Amino acid sequence: MDLRGRALHHRELRGVVPRAALDVEGALATVRPICDDVRERGVAALLDLTERFDGVRLDDVRVPAAALQTALDALDPAVRAALEESIRRARLVHADQRRADHTTQVVPGGSVTERWVPVERVGLYVPGGLAVYPSSVVMNVVPAQEAGVEQIAVTSPAQRDHGGLPHPTILAACALLGVDEVYAVGGAQAVAMFAYGARDAAGTLVVPGVDVVTGPGNIYVAAAKRLLKGVIGIDSEAGPTEIGILADDSADARSVAADLVSQAEHDPMAAAVLVTPSPALAESVQAQLVGQVAATKHRDRVATALAGPQSAIVLVDDLDAGMEVVDAYAAEHLEIHTVDARERAARVRNAGAVFVGRWAPVSLGDYCAGSNHVLPTGGCACHSGGLSVQTFLRGIHVVDYDEAALRDVADHVVALADAEDLPAHGDAVRARF
Ligand code: NAD
Repeated sequence: MDLRGRALHHRELRGVVPRAALDVEGALATVRPICDDVRERGVAALLDLTERFDGVRLDDVRVPAAALQTALDALDPAVRAALEESIRRARLVHADQRRADHTTQVVPGGSVTERWVPVERVGLYVPGGLAVYPSSVVMNVVPAQEAGVEQIAVTSPAQRDHGGLPHPTILAACALLGVDEVYAVGGAQAVAMFAYGARDAAGTLVVPGVDVVTGPGNIYVAAAKRLLKGVIGIDSEAGPTEIGILADDSADARSVAADLVSQAEHDPMAAAVLVTPSPALAESVQAQLVGQVAATKHRDRVATALAGPQSAIVLVDDLDAGMEVVDAYAAEHLEIHTVDARERAARVRNAGAVFVGRWAPVSLGDYCAGSNHVLPTGGCACHSGGLSVQTFLRGIHVVDYDEAALRDVADHVVALADAEDLPAHGDAVRARF
């Protein structure tokens, strides 16, 4: 795609930059009957849907506690050490996100306090279709724990190869984090399970409903979150992953290509977009891609993602035009490989997360930077941020006025109530005096 010499308004630009034709609205038609089924038949529906979509017939949706410990005991020590370090760094960052309650003294005798209160119960979705994501356990659970959520439940698709349990590394990550409520349910049915709760045939509540569901997933997970938003709170729709890279001549083509391949590895729908004013860099990256794609393990998936309409190399007039393009694109992950990377990173308006320079690849953020990897995709970074402690908190205003403070403002309340033709509102104040 060659955007050199084209002057486009920001909104127009958003329509021109590459993006997957991800039809979440279309997927609603698929997930609505799934969600209705779970609401009506509870656990029986979950067992049937798991058989249909994951190819395994379960006796029970809950993962036994013993299976969590077994998975932790069997965990490769190197993976355990890596997960522990990932958890430690994520805790450092997310602990710093906690907000203190704040009181504003509006007038003498009248104050408003904003209290930050965690939701009581959350359901965290950990994908397990094409790839398994123990890292997503960390990225969901740590902010919920740091927010002070009391009840944390995790769900991940049943794996036929693992006796119908979620992947053992996911179970081990749950055990490491002290989460013992884990379900072997994936897809839209998992979101519905958390939204409605689920009873067994005897009417016993096997899965209590939750207040908030978070976590990345495929298009069915995203569609179910969109459908059930309101019944539950959700984080952003974190769909197929995206990497945008803004680079100039100073960039190392090999690193740039490696990072494009690394995110394309997630999903055939994943997006990899390089924005550069340098035709020479574009050519070197393309040459690098040929060799790197051929050599990578998931080359079919990567090749499909890179060949898709959502992936491209975008040539721009200069780096400032490139900044406009990446802002319009609003990538889930944005890497900046320019001579002035830090300064440009500070000016980015729209991105889920920004990675500064050659030594901060997205892979670092996926696992061990301390930042969260559950980030808005599909352009949602224009209005939403990634998963954080804030996702699990609500601000509650506590309004505290004494008699003199209310008397002082009573006429204004009455005037506004009358202007809205809601005289009883004014009467409620007058009745006190
Ligand atoms: P997944 O767990 O999201 O989905 C698997 C489930 O989809 C299955 O259990 C099944 O129930 C359901 N399903 C499959 N085919 C279906 C069909 N035809 N109809 C209805 N339901 C169906 O795992 P995945 O598919 O590997 O997707 C994970 C996604 O999460 C990827 O796109 C990846 O890029 C993304 N991801 C995003 C982030 C982020 O922060 N944005 C992080 C990690 C992963």
